[in-house]
Amino acid sequence: PEPQADADPTKKTLVILGTGWGSVSLLKKLDTENYNVVVISPRNYFLFTPLLPSCTTGTVEHRSIMEPIRTILRHKKAAVKFYEAEASSIDPERKVVRIADNSEVQGDMTETEVPYDMLVIGVGAENATFGIPGVREHSCFLKEIGDAQQIRKKIMDCVETAAFKDQTPEEVDRLLHMVVVGGGPTGVEFAGELQDFFEEDIRKLVPDISDRFRVTLIEALPNVLPSFSKQLIDYTESTFKEEKIDVRTKTMVKNVTDKTVEAQVTGPDGEKQTIIFPYGLLVWATGNAVRPVVKDLMSRIPAQKDSRRGLAVNEYLVVQGTRDIWAVGDCAVAGYAPTAQVAGQEGSFLARLFNNMAQTQALEDKISDLSSSLNLQPGDAAEASRRLEEYQRQLRRIKNIKPFHYSHQGSLAYIGSEKAVADVSWFNGNVAAGGRLTYLFWRSAYLSMCFSSRNRLLVLNDWFKSKLFGRDVSRE
Ligand code: FAD
Ligand code: NAD
Repeated sequence: PEPQADADPTKKTLVILGTGWGSVSLLKKLDTENYNVVVISPRNYFLFTPLLPSCTTGTVEHRSIMEPIRTILRHKKAAVKFYEAEASSIDPERKVVRIADNSEVQGDMTETEVPYDMLVIGVGAENATFGIPGVREHSCFLKEIGDAQQIRKKIMDCVETAAFKDQTPEEVDRLLHMVVVGGGPTGVEFAGELQDFFEEDIRKLVPDISDRFRVTLIEALPNVLPSFSKQLIDYTESTFKEEKIDVRTKTMVKNVTDKTVEAQVTGPDGEKQTIIFPYGLLVWATGNAVRPVVKDLMSRIPAQKDSRRGLAVNEYLVVQGTRDIWAVGDCAVAGYAPTAQVAGQEGSFLARLFNNMAQTQALEDKISDLSSSLNLQPGDAAEASRRLEEYQRQLRRIKNIKPFHYSHQGSLAYIGSEKAVADVSWFNGNVAAGGRLTYLFWRSAYLSMCFSSRNRLLVLNDWFKSKLFGRDVSRE
């Protein structure tokens, strides 16, 4: 493949895949003057996922949590190339990434190769379906902006269809039954948002059918939010009971049709029973699966043969069994949960590492220049050896970069009716809290974490707007 036409031949080419939490945190702190940086992602924006569940009901508008990658790159010291494309395969032998433009508008060139000296993989994960029949065809996921838009549209379609003249009572019940599969944080937060929407808006706007609205949350394990403390699990389950969200634990979905979900329930006596849930909207939130481009790379590297959940990396986030390839976030297996918090810290770590490597290289070059000039001009030996010593001291200091260490700040989740749960590490101790105060903490924490001031302002505006005027129920 052709190298970048305008690339600086004296610098290494650093290719970064993805524009999510991992890659964007890396870009934020990376000194782009040290490398020819190329970013490749099918999404030309960063998405603040923690507020994605709020977009499904219009509490927050989707554009308020998106930040264009081109705006982010414009503020970097040296120019960064961005290609809106998907990486379809990575060849670690030839050091090239094959990319494809799969967007709606296409030019003559839709596929090509990008060579790299250094590669960072931050492509995230896709939705797990465990091969359960009917899931891909009939359910909505909740990972990307398009998913949230689809859900928002479908909720209102179900409501308007249920309100259709002479609709049969059974059909009204089915259409207004919203089923969420997966009791992890995604499923829990979505169920909470959905119930709020009905209580605060739909009930007023479509009162005649509002009593028939139901939310069911299905979870295979004995409880929801398995990663939270027992106290918060109990608090969430009792809040859901008050909110009339039907939580079905020990219930595993086995099959999905266009109108029903079939699940197997394990009773207290261990006996298994099949239940059919008719639904209007089905949201599938059962966690992560490995993306095809990552699976393909893993199959090319013998050291990855035992890794199942993604690319096994070492303590410097180098993909095991490769050279010059690093992985961050949900596609990497570093021993941490697949969260934005972990991905963000991994990205920042790599930025420090790469800034450091560039400094190291520059110092090593200076040392070698100085050492050779020392032989040529013995007269200035004293000054030169003083400088040499100084460079060597600096080099020792920056070469001493410590391995990646994750620092857990805590877990937060919104559970509806202006309540949230939080497991937070404070002054080396753990604090578990749930309720309205925690909700205010949740809001202020996420507001402060928004990518830009623009995002922050938009989100605040959305919160005020939906509180003051109600959520916008127009079906786009
Ligand atoms: P992502 O952020 O998913 O980014 C992946 C990027 O790679 C995207 O830009 C994508 O377009 C791109 N990409 C995909 N395929 C390719 C390809 N073939 N080639 C090139 N690029 C590609 N975590 C928390 O810590 N706190 C929360 O409150 C929280 N809330 C969440 C709410 C929801 C609804 C969801 C779904 C997740 C939430 N998470 C939260 C988890 C968090 O979003 C993920 O762990 C995080 O996004 C992982 O970051 P990442 O960079 O690995 O992947
Ligand atoms: P998850 O993996 O945390 O939870 C998925 C749940 O689905 C599991 O509890 C699993 O038992 C259940 N499940 C799987 N198959 C099932 C089936 N057939 N029938 C019924 N239940 C089934 O997934 P998630 O909630 O999407 O979260 C993914 C990652 O993102 C996690 O690391 C999570 O911590 C993070 N996240 C964090 C937040 C937050 O901090 N507020 C919000 C969303 C996501």
